[in-house]
Amino acid sequence: MTDSPRSLPLVMVEPRGRAKPPRHLADLSLEERLVYAAELGLPAYRAKQLSTHYFDRLVDDPAEMTDLPATQRDELVSAFLPELMTPIRTLEADRGTTRKTLWRLFDNALVESVLMRYPDRVTMCVSSQAGCGMACPFCATGQGGLQRNMSTAEIVEQVVAGARSLGRGEVPGGPARVSNVVFMGMGEPLANFKAVVGAVRRLTEPAPSGLGMSARGVTVSTVGLVPRINQLANLGIPVTLALSLHAPDDELRNELVPINTRFSVSEAVDAAWGYARVTKRRVSIEYAMMRGINDQPWRADLLADVLLARGDWGWVHVNLIPLNPTPGSRWTASDPADEREFVRRLEARGIPTTVRDTRGREIDGACGQLAATGE
Ligand code: SAH
Repeated sequence: MTDSPRSLPLVMVEPRGRAKPPRHLADLSLEERLVYAAELGLPAYRAKQLSTHYFDRLVDDPAEMTDLPATQRDELVSAFLPELMTPIRTLEADRGTTRKTLWRLFDNALVESVLMRYPDRVTMCVSSQAGCGMACPFCATGQGGLQRNMSTAEIVEQVVAGARSLGRGEVPGGPARVSNVVFMGMGEPLANFKAVVGAVRRLTEPAPSGLGMSARGVTVSTVGLVPRINQLANLGIPVTLALSLHAPDDELRNELVPINTRFSVSEAVDAAWGYARVTKRRVSIEYAMMRGINDQPWRADLLADVLLARGDWGWVHVNLIPLNPTPGSRWTASDPADEREFVRRLEARGIPTTVRDTRGREIDGACGQLAATGE
């Protein structure tokens, strides 16, 4: 790193005195990067070269950026590609094809991401907030409250880090690209709307603007913040929406997903239906199966009623998630026979239903447990 006066301080301070994550080129559109370069007194094309390194070549070592003058390299890198997070540890499962990484952010907040490699795709599960304010009682992240929103670049960097490790051959199966991103790590993505939309743009814009992924490969999962779902629908980026419903009736959902007292089952499902109508993307209803709580046959029937009341034009499918019990949890996963009956009832009503695989369960994949227990 250089001491040049033109390089940015690593940490900028918000009015309220809280430090913000370092500004990174992934926070900015390509045009904004060019403007930023000009503000720093640097030629605009340098911003483009750095963007190509970051999004296209996935290079993070300044020594490999040989098209940049050696004397300016450190300055350029510290202005545009500051370090955003450091890996604390990586846990592997499924013979290395599932990898969960615990990251420390600049302010010591901990978040996690999970890479899952399948024969036909690679999915990165990313965090959008450090902690979460939604307080769902069965979710490990929900127990610790919200620490802060993540920046666009902090979200994107999780995907780029996964892409780099695939490129370096660290994941068995040969070189590959990240094909899917799911916002199902820590946090409520629609409560950090601006940064998440920025991240979706960076993921889907072609290089050197972004990673050039298909929007269809990106899934934003939400507790059901209705105004934000509507806003997302109107952005014209056809990402897949997942609604974490977990119960078809307000009485139970008020308990399992407390935000339901603000946005009811019917309001959340209406918004999801509207999302499907506007974007022509099938919505996924997430339903964590909890033994004796939400897995009764009558609730399967009620769920079908609630979904089909909005029409049966294939706007929705249901994804059942076997509950991953958190330490000391009052809840456990459903009996497999009850799960099968639940699936059967939904399918009998013509609702496509899948049961999520439990990849990475032994490394507490996707439920915030690693970050929650600290180091
Ligand atoms: N805030 C977003 C993303 C949360 S994580 C949302 O609520 O959709 C993605 C999914 O995992 C959500 O459906 C969430 O309810 C579910 N989940 C959280 N904890 C879980 C657990 N212990 N077992 C199974 N699914 C869980």
